[in-house]
This record gives sequence, C-alpha cells and structure tokens, in this order.
Amino acid sequence: MPNIQVLDQVTIDKIAAGEVIERPASIVKELVENAIDAKATAITVEIKDGGISLIRIADNGCGIPKEEVPLAFLRHSTSKIRSVEDLTGIASLGFRGEALSSIAAIAQVELRTKVKEADAGIQYRIEGGSEKSMEEIGMPDGTTFFVRQIFFNTPARRKFLKTPMTEASHVSELITRLALSHPEISFQFLTNGQPKLHTSGNGRLKDVIYHIYGRDITGNLLEINAKANGIAIRGYIGKPLISRGNRNYENYYINGRYVKSSIIAKAIEDAYKGFTMQHK
Ligand code: ADP
Ligand code: MG
Repeated sequence: MPNIQVLDQVTIDKIAAGEVIERPASIVKELVENAIDAKATAITVEIKDGGISLIRIADNGCGIPKEEVPLAFLRHSTSKIRSVEDLTGIASLGFRGEALSSIAAIAQVELRTKVKEADAGIQYRIEGGSEKSMEEIGMPDGTTFFVRQIFFNTPARRKFLKTPMTEASHVSELITRLALSHPEISFQFLTNGQPKLHTSGNGRLKDVIYHIYGRDITGNLLEINAKANGIAIRGYIGKPLISRGNRNYENYYINGRYVKSSIIAKAIEDAYKGFTMQHK
C-alpha cells in the first residue's frame, strides 16, 4: 500500500461537496435558505438548462460585509452559531457553514453582495475552490449568486445528472415547497427565461396555495389551527372531494423545515379514514 498522506484542502472540499451537493436543486436549496436566513423579503431564482449551466439567486437581504466575503467560502464558517451551546436554540435554517465552500468547490461561482452601510457592493469570483477576483461594484442592497457549470471539475459526478428537464422539475418542486413555507417572502422562479412562479409575499398562505395549485384546489380547503401538548399546528387540508391517489400534494413542515415523515403521513391519512375512499 502507498504511504498515508493528509489530503489537501481542495480535495477535502470536493469530497465534502459530494455530501451536500447532489444536483442543481441542492444548490438552490442551500442558497435560498441562506437568503431566508438573511431576512430577505424577495427572492428570485433563475435557472438555465435545469440549473446545470446557470443558477442565479438574488435576494434583498442583509448582504455580506466586504471583509467577510472570503471567509464565507471557508469550510465550517458561519455567522449563525458561535459554539455548541447554540445548537439547542437554532432559529436559522443553516448553521453548519458548509454550503458555500461545497458549492465553490464544484462550480464556478460569482457573488455580488452589498450591506446597507456600504457605499458600494463587492463582486467576488471563486472557481473550484480557488479565488479568481474581488472588485467593488455598484448595486442595490442584498446578495446575488451566479453558479455556473456545476461539477465542471468532477466529470464523474456530472455524468449522474439527469436531463435538464428532470433537474428543472426538482428545482421547481423545491421552490414550491419553500414558497409554501414562507408566504411572507415574494418568490420569483424562472427557467430558461420563462416565468414559472411569482408569489406576492403578502403573508397569506392561501394566496400562495392559489398561485401554485389553482382555483379548484384553493376553493376546497379547510383551515386548521390547533394547539395541544406544547405543539401548534396550522395550515390547510383538502376536502375529500379533491383527494388524490398519491402523496405529491402532502406538504408539511416542522419549525419551518420541509420534512418527509412516514409517521406524519400515516397520522394524516388515518384522520381521513371514513371520509375518503381507500387508497386516496
Ligand atoms: P451556514 O448557512 O450554515 O451559515 P453557508 O456556507 O451556507 O453556511 O454560508 C456561510 C455564511 O455566509 C452564512 O453564515 C452567512 O453569514 C453568509 N451568507 C451566505 N449567503 C448569504 C446571503 N444570501 N445573505 C447574507 N449572508 C449570506
Ligand atoms: Mg447556509
């Protein structure tokens, strides 16, 4: 066997990126969650070729101060926790500080960001984990990420991507789920220049549901709002009239995070027993 060696940082980041970034939708998830954590009220997501050639995410959140820009791309760098004690009271979606370093390891990333205290914004380029440039630019407050050519330096992983259409549908499903869990944020989603979704951000969940699922569904909902045993539940359930034969329209969230849970799915379906036909 060859002798043991410690891997260099670029290799470490590339391997770690494989755990965080599987496909374009994983990048969109991380970047939109960052925008939400940055208190954005409007988030635009644009993809080309299913996100394989381009992902653009623009937010009007707090921005990143100039001196912190390179730090944000380091592994385990985060502004969201300071110590292990903070782990018990996390209010943000992110905290591991792995997303930006992972994305930068496997794609060509351009960041433009401006905090409101600064006169100018910063444009920063990093590709395959190596810094390319950092310049001042004029721009409004907030942050925009351009992620190009995902897996350009890991062809083996690139091969595992599905067709642009399939990748785009993964992104679309994700945006749908994020929009549903954040009615107070205006989401705009475009694919190959075509607008696909634009929510108002007026805070009314029912309006978001209308945008996504249309009038027939929205007209047949029951509002739920209950508290018991230290748990609060709110949202909408469909009347049996609009029941389906699959679980695609079952979306539930715990503390703002989308989850899939066979226990919750079963609880919901058990509660419907007697109101719907079998297998609905
Ligand atoms: P995490 O979200 O786990 O902290 P990330 O790698 O996703 O780690 O991001 C690193 C840091 O970069 C964040 O903690 C945050 O301070 C900053 N950041 C990333 N995206 C944004 C954004 N859209 N707006 C403001 N700050 C951001
Ligand atoms: Mg994050």
